[in-house]
Amino acid sequence: MQFEHAHGFRPQVPMMLQAEWPAALKGWQDLEARPVEAANPDGSRQLVGMLSRRSTFERALRGAAEMQSGLTLRAGHVEELVVERGRVTGARVDGALVEADLVVDASGRAGRLGRSRASGDTRDLDGDCGLAYVDRTYRLRPGAEPGPMSSPIAYVAEFDGYQCLVFLHEAGHFSVVVVRPTADAALKDLRLETAFEAACRAIPALAEWTHPDRSQPTSPVLVGGALRNVYRRQAGTPGLVAVGDSVATTTPTRGRGIAMACMQVTALLGLLDEGADPVAVAEPFGAWCDRAIEPWVADHIAIDGGMVRRWQGEGLDLNVPLTSDLIADAVQADPRIGEHAGGYFAMTALPETLRPAEPLARAVYLSGWRPAYAPGPTRDELVDVIRATEPAA
Ligand SMILES: Cc1cc2nc3c(=O)[nH]c(=O)nc-3n(C[C@H](O)[C@H](O)[C@H](O)COP(=O)(O)OP(=O)(O)OC[C@H]3O[C@@H](n4cnc5c(N)ncnc54)[C@H](O)[C@@H]3O)c2cc1C
Repeated sequence: MQFEHAHGFRPQVPMMLQAEWPAALKGWQDLEARPVEAANPDGSRQLVGMLSRRSTFERALRGAAEMQSGLTLRAGHVEELVVERGRVTGARVDGALVEADLVVDASGRAGRLGRSRASGDTRDLDGDCGLAYVDRTYRLRPGAEPGPMSSPIAYVAEFDGYQCLVFLHEAGHFSVVVVRPTADAALKDLRLETAFEAACRAIPALAEWTHPDRSQPTSPVLVGGALRNVYRRQAGTPGLVAVGDSVATTTPTRGRGIAMACMQVTALLGLLDEGADPVAVAEPFGAWCDRAIEPWVADHIAIDGGMVRRWQGEGLDLNVPLTSDLIADAVQADPRIGEHAGGYFAMTALPETLRPAEPLARAVYLSGWRPAYAPGPTRDELVDVIRATEPAA
């Protein structure tokens, strides 16, 4: 269940709740979720995320929904959508009909309702991201300080052949994630507790976070499911609208999924508030998703493919357009790129806004500059660390 896996929350999430459902935001903060701000160059402060476990977020939303007047909660399995004269008029839930003016398909990445919707629109996107991951949750001991961070909400670092992330959550909880190419079978054993612990000891930043004096594990090592980058257009059936992962899923490595779902909620409610007909709202909403959501999925497909190839030893190909992660990385060598990158990092401007900086980034890479790996074992050295934990044959 993804709700137990590591999650980071971008500012779009608390901002949407503040605007649309303040009781849920309050409930989240009552469960100790903490907003994080950072200083802007002009000295003003800006919200950059929320520290929380995903399960805490879910508890807060559920609690607020239970208290919401006018809302009836029913738990059950939606077996099928009910269609009458070309219009969705409800859903069959555990055998019973639930009628609706508008059915919202929020069935997520594995929802079957969405699958029947997307009957082969050739403009849809779908690609295996080529990445696999394991993660584990921990909690800081009373009084212990967090370990190294690379941003106010997380530690994210690229190594020679793999990637590590640490998400700080509420009340000293945190998650450690190790991402590898799916094809790299030798790193698969990181799913074993002894191997994962040895890897954490060998990677300096993770060693600091997970040192027994600082923290203790609160879960076994969790193995992530198959990760795909998917964009599905609206089905076009009146009375039905899809939102969230049912529209778009991206590799979790950039923590975009819930932010994209919240951006969709804001857009959908905005259309309805402006008077859009609920039965037909999927059409303007779908057009908005094509403009504002699809580019993030396309961006991920490009980024992930290049990242996996580089982790597997391929050199940087300067004969093709640079992907946005490479353009953004080059800001370390040419600060002018930063003028184009802020909106991209914050997801307040589409990936295309980075394009004007591509020639600057290209010049950086042509000069021979490459982003430095974080201090720690290479992939081959990490394989040795893992093998050393295996019992002798
Ligand atoms: C391992 C992992 C890590 C992630 N990390 C991050 C992160 O750091 N930051 C971030 O922003 N995003 C992250 N994401 C993405 C994020 O989890 C999703 O974008 C988000 O959960 C989408 O919400 P949703 O409500 O659309 O779908 P979901 O959260 O998947 O909810 C869909 C629900 O519908 C239910 N359902 C499906 N079919 C039916 C049916 N027929 N009847 C009844 N119920 C049904 C499912 O059981 C599920 O409970 C991560 C995802 C994964 C897998």
